Amino acid sequence: MATEPGAPGPSLSAAAPSGVDGVEARPGVPKPDPVLVVDGLRKTFDGITAVDVDHLEIPRGLITALIGPNGAGKTTLFNLLTGFEQLDAGTWSFDGRRLDGHAAHQIARLGMVRTFQLTKALRKMSVMDNMKLGAIGQRGENFFAALLPFLWSAQEQVIADRALALLERFNLHHMQDQYGGSLSGGQRKLLEMARALMAEPALVMLDEPMAGVNPALVESLLDHVRGLRAQGMSVVFVEHNMDVVMGISDWIVCLAGGRVIAEGTPESIADNEAVIDAYLGTRES
Ligand code: ATP
Repeated sequence: MATEPGAPGPSLSAAAPSGVDGVEARPGVPKPDPVLVVDGLRKTFDGITAVDVDHLEIPRGLITALIGPNGAGKTTLFNLLTGFEQLDAGTWSFDGRRLDGHAAHQIARLGMVRTFQLTKALRKMSVMDNMKLGAIGQRGENFFAALLPFLWSAQEQVIADRALALLERFNLHHMQDQYGGSLSGGQRKLLEMARALMAEPALVMLDEPMAGVNPALVESLLDHVRGLRAQGMSVVFVEHNMDVVMGISDWIVCLAGGRVIAEGTPESIADNEAVIDAYLGTRES
């Protein structure tokens, strides 16, 4: 979807959309308007099942958290859905379109984008160049050619304007010429989110958006995540911090042993026995 990065900030007080109102809290439950539908998704590593999801629907326009104890399969599911890992079996569709078998850049081009960490190479690039890679790299074109203006002059101004507007929105514009590596942990998370938005996604997948973030910046980051929803995007995030999960999610999916063992609103998940057992390690899966 097209967003307006320079537009005034979205109203964060707006009520969450009602996409899960009245939806039963049970694994695999259908949603009225899912943006993502997963069926029979399986992945094993050396005979060990990492992901074994029979059916999962992600609601559109809401914030969905993917939780579960260590080794539950969250990252593997995330990687499968974004094309960064090959599946063994199963299908999944985004906006009604089958995407299993697609490469990561094709998935991103269709509007489903994940954040990726500021790696060593990206830390040695300026904040602005990181943003430009978000626009062009996500589209599967040559990362480094993207940095040579004569190869992309027609697009250059549009991309630079968009990058600057997003940097202003995420309060990073004053750092546009600095190395990515000079940013604080929280600012890196902001840059990762801003860079993902360069691809104009409809669904944003955030991998541990609060990890390593100074508590003083957590609220600001959470407001940005709510801002994505207020702009009409769907958000899926993996996060270990349960205060963050409970405070921001419209819907929570809990994995254990690669399976979806519970789904529901934060209220229903907080006292769900299967979830409590999984975290305590007492549940046989
Ligand atoms: P955590 O919260 O600790 O990051 P997770 O829920 O993200 O865990 P995964 O990282 O997806 O869980 O791991 C699920 C299972 O798959 C684990 O048993 C893990 O050891 C295994 N696994 C994941 N990736 C690989 C890999 N590349 N090679 C072998 N085994 C893997």
